[in-house]
Amino acid sequence: MSRPVHRVAPNTDTPIRQDSLRAHNLDLTFRQIAGARGTPVSRSELATTTGLTRPTISRIIDELLAAELIVEAEPTRSGNSGRPRVGLTLARTGPAGLGLDIRADVLSACVVDLTGTVRHLDFLPHDGLDPDEVLHGLTTMANRAVQAAAAERLTVVGATLAAPGPVQNNSVVRFAPTLGWRDVDAGAALSGGLQPAGLPVRVDNDARLAALAEWYAAGQELNNFVCVSGEFDIGAGLVLDGVQLRGWAGEVGHVMVDNDGAPCACGATGCLQRYAGLQAILGTAAEPGIAPAVTIDALTSAGNPRIATALDEAGTALGVAIAGLINLVRVDTVLLGGSYSLLASWLIDGINRELHRRVLTTAWSPVEVRPATLGPDAAVIGAALSTVDLVRRDPNGWLAGAQN
Ligand SMILES: [Zn+2]
Repeated sequence: MSRPVHRVAPNTDTPIRQDSLRAHNLDLTFRQIAGARGTPVSRSELATTTGLTRPTISRIIDELLAAELIVEAEPTRSGNSGRPRVGLTLARTGPAGLGLDIRADVLSACVVDLTGTVRHLDFLPHDGLDPDEVLHGLTTMANRAVQAAAAERLTVVGATLAAPGPVQNNSVVRFAPTLGWRDVDAGAALSGGLQPAGLPVRVDNDARLAALAEWYAAGQELNNFVCVSGEFDIGAGLVLDGVQLRGWAGEVGHVMVDNDGAPCACGATGCLQRYAGLQAILGTAAEPGIAPAVTIDALTSAGNPRIATALDEAGTALGVAIAGLINLVRVDTVLLGGSYSLLASWLIDGINRELHRRVLTTAWSPVEVRPATLGPDAAVIGAALSTVDLVRRDPNGWLAGAQN
C-alpha cells in the first residue's frame, strides 16, 4: 500500500544553506527508499539515483536507521560471486499513524505503519449519535490502539478522525447532518482523553480520507479519479493529475437531484442523500443495525422488490450527481467506495446509464465505474495513512521532533 507522494520541487531562486542542503539530501534519499514500494534499495543504487557521494549516502542512511525510519533488509547474493547486497526498506517498527472513524453502525480504529500496512483494526458497535458518547467511545478505542501498537514496537505519532461532514481548522466538525452534529470540536475532545498526552489529533472529512486510502491501494495507474463513498452520508474525494485537492468540499450527498424532492436533514430538499443514502435505500425494510449495506445486499438477493426498486433509484440518482461532477472535472475513473463497494453490482448500471446520457465527453473519453478495493474500512485506513504520511513527507521534521 505504499506509494510515492507528490512533492513540489525546491525553490532554486534562493541560495541553499548547508543545513538546508543536508535536509534536502536526506529527504531525497528517504524518498527513493519510500518510493521503491517495498523493494529493498542498496546504498550504491541510492548513490546512483540521487547523484550523492557514497560517504554522504552512508551518513544519511545511518541517521535514518537510528531514527527507525528505515531498516536493512535480509542480505541477498546475486550470481556466484560478489559481496552480499544489503538493501534498505521502510521500517515496520517505529512511527505509525492512528485512524478513527464514525460509521452508521460501528466506530473503528486503525493503526498503519510507515510502509502503509494495516497493523491493528478494531470495531465497536454503536447506535448513539450523542457527540460525548461517540467521542468517549473513540477515545477508549484510540488508547487501546496505541497500546496494541506499542506491543509491536510501533510508536503512534498522531491520530486523525474521519468525520462525516465539513471540518474547520482540522478540529471542528461544522455540520454532520446525519449525526445531527453542529460545531462539535471533536479534535479538542479527543486530545483531552488520548494517551500519551499531547499526541497530535486532526479531524478530516471521511470521503477525502477514503479516497486517499483507495489511491494508495490502487497503485500508480490511478491518477484522475473520484471516489464516491456511501456511509452515513455520501461524500466524494477527488484526485486530479496525481494530486488530492484540498479545497474540494466533496459533499456530493447534498447535491440536488430532484427539484421537487423530499426534505433533507441539511435543510434543503431533493438532495442525493434522500435517494442514495444507505438509510434511504433501506427505508422501512429493516432497522438500521450492524452493516446496513450487508442487510441491503441480502434483502435484494432474496428478491425483496422494494429494496430492488430503491437500489435502482439510488443508482440513477448517483448517476445524475456524478455526471454533473464529471462535466466539471475530467476524471477517467469513478470508484464506488465505502459501503457502496458492497452494493456496486446493484448500482453500476444505473450510474453508467446516466453518465452516457449526461456527460459530454463519454463518446470519446469513456469513464470506468468500478467498486473500490478497501470497502467500508477505507476512511479509517485513510485517516491512519494521512497521519503516517506526515512523517513520510517530512522525514526531517520527524528527526527534529525525535531529537527534542
Ligand atoms: Zn441535504
